[in-house]
Formats: sequence, C-alpha cells, structure tokens
Amino acid sequence: MKTFKYISRLVLVVLLSIILVFLVALVFRLLRVEKETKTIKSVHFDVIYNGILQAEAKDISTALEHNYERIRLDLADPEHRKISVFIHPNQDEFNKATGLVNSKANGTSRGPLVFHLKYETWFNAIFPPEMEKVAVHEFTHCVQLNLLIQDALSRIKSADSTDFDKNFEIKFAKDYPQWFWEALCDYEAGMVNSASVKYGMKGKPTLKELNSSPQIYNVGYTIIAYFVSKYGKEKLPDFMKSYGNFEQTLGITEKEFESGWYTFVNEKYP
Ligand SMILES: [Zn+2]
Repeated sequence: MKTFKYISRLVLVVLLSIILVFLVALVFRLLRVEKETKTIKSVHFDVIYNGILQAEAKDISTALEHNYERIRLDLADPEHRKISVFIHPNQDEFNKATGLVNSKANGTSRGPLVFHLKYETWFNAIFPPEMEKVAVHEFTHCVQLNLLIQDALSRIKSADSTDFDKNFEIKFAKDYPQWFWEALCDYEAGMVNSASVKYGMKGKPTLKELNSSPQIYNVGYTIIAYFVSKYGKEKLPDFMKSYGNFEQTLGITEKEFESGWYTFVNEKYP
C-alpha cells in the first residue's frame, strides 16, 4: 500500500512537472512570436507571417529557396513569377484566409502563385510535421499548376481569359489524377517513413482508390520514387501534361504500372 501511494505521488509530480514545463514554454513562445504581420522577401518568394517566430518564417523562406531550382528543373517548369506564402498561426486564421470551411489542413495552394500554411508546433498539434517540408509540398503544387496552365495556354490560339480560367478549373478538377497531384508533392518534399508506407500498403490500394483515400499521404512518395527509378524523372513533365496517361507517356497500362510499384515497395520496404 505504501509503495502504491509512493508511486502514485511520483506519477503525479512527474505529470505536474511536464505540464508546468509545457506552460512555461508556451508563455515564453507567446512573448516572442511576431504580433504584427511581417514579410520576408527573397528572390522567388514573399513569406508573409504573424503569430510565429521570425526564425521559423526565415527557415521556411530558406527551405523554399533551397529547393526552388531543383524542383522546377525536375518538372521542367516554365517561367514562374514570384510566389506569395502566407503563414497563419492557427486553424481559424488559416481557414478564414483561405475560405476553407472546417478545414483541418495545414497547407493549401491557391493557384500557381500563392499558397497558405497553418504553422504547426507542439503547442497546436499532436505530432507537428516538419513545416519546411509542408512548405516544399505546397510549392510543388504551385509548380504543377503553373506547368499545366502554361501548357494549356500554349495550345489555345486566342483565349478569352475568363473562359480560360473557368475551363481550366473544370478540366483540372475532373481529369487530373488526385493521387499524382499529392504523390508528386510528397516525393519532392521527401515526405516518407517506412512505418507509414507499410500501413498504407495494407490491402494493396490501386491508384484509382488513392484518388480519394488519405493513404495517399502514407504511400505517395513511393509511387513517384518507383516512377523515377523505372522510367526516369524526365518523363514526369509529359506524364503531368497528359493528365496521368500511362499508355501515352510510358507505353504501359495503369495495371502494369501498379504491379511494378507493388514489387518495388515490397523490395524497398520489406
Ligand atoms: Zn497537397
């Protein structure tokens, strides 16, 4: 009985200490975050932020510039104008700024020249991701959109720009494969871990199923890793412009690609 009392008291003291450390750290953070909206300008990005530390915004800006040329070269991105990156400190502000309703997302692109991030830390998320990687993921969405829009523009003669935007949006929403849209971003951002891959591959999801499954975030990286290792990354831009047409770009069926991918994952993530 004495031992039990001692252990419960010890557990209580440890728990209270953890809570105290957490609260002190939170107060310390709140004192140091930027209260006003600030902008960090670099060559290719304007990072606009508030409610986070200046150092955190600087790290996002540095990571984006660091990955800029590599990703645009990988995907043969044509001219790309300066990108605005809005960083919000919580879900409310993120949802208000993006117009998303009840969203739990921590990032979203808004066309080829704008994306938003909800900055996650141990104070507002259970397992906060590496925000630099989330930023690179969203930037890759901007690159995909830019490439698709420029490609579509190059193929029409005289466009009424209002109609162009509307028609592009309709075609994109209907025909662009969602699995590829997300997988490519996870690949370029290096978002992968073995345990999640194994979990996501249970039941061997097809690419079609991954269009509407959150498992795409667990396994997406491996799809593009397989694509690149087998067919070369120089095929990625054509595959994108074909809206994911395997026959046209790789001369194989979707089924054939899938079985190659399953084998690849079995070997790489046994
Ligand atoms: Zn995404």
